[in-house]
Amino acid sequence: MKTAILTAIYDHFDHWSSAWRFSCRSGCSTCCTTRVTVTALEGRRILDFCHTNDRMEWLVGKLAIDYSLQPQAQTTNEFVAASLEDLDDMPSSHHSRNPCPFLEKAICTIYEVRPFSCRCFASTSPCNELNTATVDDDYLYGSTAAMQLIEHLGQFDSWGYLQDVLLLEIIRNDKYSFQFADQGKHLLEKLLPRLRRAQPLPGFVLPEAHKKIISSLIEPILSSQIGGYTIQEIFNGKKGSDIIETKSHSQQ
Ligand code: SF4
Ligand code: SF4
Repeated sequence: MKTAILTAIYDHFDHWSSAWRFSCRSGCSTCCTTRVTVTALEGRRILDFCHTNDRMEWLVGKLAIDYSLQPQAQTTNEFVAASLEDLDDMPSSHHSRNPCPFLEKAICTIYEVRPFSCRCFASTSPCNELNTATVDDDYLYGSTAAMQLIEHLGQFDSWGYLQDVLLLEIIRNDKYSFQFADQGKHLLEKLLPRLRRAQPLPGFVLPEAHKKIISSLIEPILSSQIGGYTIQEIFNGKKGSDIIETKSHSQQ
């Protein structure tokens, strides 16, 4: 059920974001860095994809490198919870100089299952080493809201950098753990301080000037039917006891 909800969020976001004209093109990859963050749910999708396509050895090779990442201070929902208290700015982009390990010849090698952080990252002007992505506030608030829903869906499971989440999933999954049999304990000691837990929705940031456009994304997602229930009902516990109640705060 969670994968169906995730796919519904991706699809609604694709439809909603088609109103923008972006400079993003195949082979344009300055934004593909090691700072992409994901939920464990999205990580498992990538693992399943690699497993099905007989690419586990390839994947393990990508993850065997130590990317020396600094821990993230907050998940998206933790950041928004803090923003709802003291009106902080929105999160900054994931621009960094280190290319994503899944980038080969400027093409994403896991494009079909790339996480939402990659799907929503876009720019209305071409990026380069000096200029990071530019998007308007409507897009930034909407993509943040969708990211929050995905974090809510994966709540209490791990959340962090793509490489770290994938490594943890391999180490703790009997099907794959033999890949790192000798190093599992050592790797966990390095990984765990960098990983966080995905958090439930604290509410959305909905400034009045952007409320209509953000709602035009959130409302169709929450009213989508999965297995006879709306996503809103599932999030509120009517179906799926592992997904707890959604709070409904908003910032005016
Ligand atoms: S966000 Fe920037 S670097 Fe990434 S595809 Fe779009 S224009 Fe290219
Ligand atoms: S997973 Fe793919 S789209 Fe995402 S940053 Fe890496 S190469 Fe780019």
